[in-house]
Amino acid sequence: MAGWAAFAALLGLSILFSVPAGAKAGAGADGPTGAAFALQPDCLAVTPLARTPQQTGFPHFTCGEDKAPQDYQSARLWYRFTLGAQEGAGAAQGGPRVLMVGLSRFQRLVVYFRYADGAVRRQQVWTGHFGDHWRAGGQIAFEAPARDAALTGIVVRFDRLASAPMLRMRLIDTRALNWQVTALAGVIGGALVLLALCALYNLTLTIAARQLGALWQSGWALVMVVWGALWSQLALFVWPAMAGAPSAQACTGLSCLAIMLATFSAVTAPDKRLLPRALRRTTLGLAVAIALLGVPLALVRVGPLALYATLLGALVLLDLAAVAACLALAWKRGSREARSYVGAWALPMIVLAILEVAPIKMWFYGAGSQIVVLCAATWQALFLSVAISRASGRLRAERDLARRNEAEALAQARRDPLTGLFNRRGFLEAIAPMLDRAREGQDCFALLLLDVDRFKAINDRFGHDAGDEVLVALAGTLGLRAGAHCTVARLGGEEFALATSGLSGFALLRFADEVRRGVEQGGHGRHGVALAPGAVTVSIGLAAWPEREARARNIDAATAFRELYRRADAALYRAKSEGRNRVVVAPVSKGPAAADVCAVAG
Ligand code: GH3
Ligand code: MG
Ligand code: MG
Repeated sequence: MAGWAAFAALLGLSILFSVPAGAKAGAGADGPTGAAFALQPDCLAVTPLARTPQQTGFPHFTCGEDKAPQDYQSARLWYRFTLGAQEGAGAAQGGPRVLMVGLSRFQRLVVYFRYADGAVRRQQVWTGHFGDHWRAGGQIAFEAPARDAALTGIVVRFDRLASAPMLRMRLIDTRALNWQVTALAGVIGGALVLLALCALYNLTLTIAARQLGALWQSGWALVMVVWGALWSQLALFVWPAMAGAPSAQACTGLSCLAIMLATFSAVTAPDKRLLPRALRRTTLGLAVAIALLGVPLALVRVGPLALYATLLGALVLLDLAAVAACLALAWKRGSREARSYVGAWALPMIVLAILEVAPIKMWFYGAGSQIVVLCAATWQALFLSVAISRASGRLRAERDLARRNEAEALAQARRDPLTGLFNRRGFLEAIAPMLDRAREGQDCFALLLLDVDRFKAINDRFGHDAGDEVLVALAGTLGLRAGAHCTVARLGGEEFALATSGLSGFALLRFADEVRRGVEQGGHGRHGVALAPGAVTVSIGLAAWPEREARARNIDAATAFRELYRRADAALYRAKSEGRNRVVVAPVSKGPAAADVCAVAG
């Protein structure tokens, strides 16, 4: 959790001006390396803005005193750098000769290159117009024109500079600069693309899976993309007018917004019930306060900006401490989401904590801590996207299992546990389409009720278990008939039912008798259990669909079926009383039976 605090401190102090925290003009740690070195101003001056911009004469400089400039925010701040003999000669011979400035919150920046022969060359940029001076990584480059005379010094002039303590400048070799800028552009471009993909992915999740947490995460990633594009100046490709203060100010506002969204994302990820309401609300309240504070902070141009940054930093610190408390508590109480968030932030936090104490000032080719923040954000976004994907994968698997179990339970509820055939409920459901077709007159329908003859005697003689085996064997034999046009069920005890469609008249009668004979002759059923020939017989009551009647009386399928069942049962009763092991056809109750297409001639 120390990582959170370190991140908070770093972010809070650095976001306000989009420059590395605490970077001081000329106080870089790089030192002269031959390829690049931080510039140490030896003289400074503050003059009113009233001087004409064309004036090339330099003001009176105060030199040698190591004191901070005063009252420069509404004035002109001048710095003079005298290049040592070695550096100057190097510059003259093609050594470090590009001045890199890492702070863009000013109205105008004029750079004067001074040569040994007394010549001065001037370049400038101003808010809204950086020309071709901007470089990826939030820096501005001024290349000293190549001349025969050695470069002896540089004077820079800032009009309305926001904060001198946050300024950083360095001198670098052209070739080194080119490849540094290429590397930075590659890293930043890659990070921005990944962040944009994460934003899009989380947005898709928000819409598809209705996950509110993904919405915060998506918003956060999107804000980080815009922030990264503005801070790094890559946005100037498409919008050059954003150069300078507008981008820097927008970055301040976006940083605050990003902190709010990240907080919302982290705090709303774990189950609500795992967190005390007060803690949750305080944290979210802090986040909203930071976002609201970002609006005025993005607008101010003068005043004690470094102090504001420190205050905001403190508030961010408080917010992140609260977030850390929320996550730690939720994790302790078993929240997987909280664990994912801690996992996502742990590595960036450790890196940032190390950088906080390390002399980062002009590291990463002058891109400073912002590039670390950008990479950390990308890592976090990728980590959480993977975590969210895995969580949804798990949820999907659980849901599929639950659905399978439910479907299985439903299927079980329709089956007779002993024989595996449909029970009464399953039978009624299964024959519903057959009945519908019969009702519409498209198909014939018939019901066969079967009852095992003298089953009680089998039970009495061989025992209940043997009786069960007979039932299973019989179910197997009858089950062979099941198909698209025949549904088989055990209605209870030793009573079975067959529903047929598409059979009528003599064919239906023959079918019923085949069923009866099939049982009588024994043989192997579907489960391989054999019935001895002649050991078991069944009586069958057969009733055909009373088509005419049902239509004439306009009765529904359920009523028609009940009637059908009653008639088949009566026929079965007759089959028993007439000696068993036979098929009896129920007479058609009314109407011209012979003319009925589905009627069976008794
Ligand atoms: P009938 O020819 O008149 O149908 O004679 P029956 O003996 O088959 O008729 P009855 O209704 O008198 O007896 C049915 C017997 O079926 C009584 C009961 O013990 C037995 N029985 C019902 N369900 C089961 C079962 O699940 N397993 C076994 N083993 N026996 C059952
Ligand atoms: Mg019976
Ligand atoms: Mg019986």
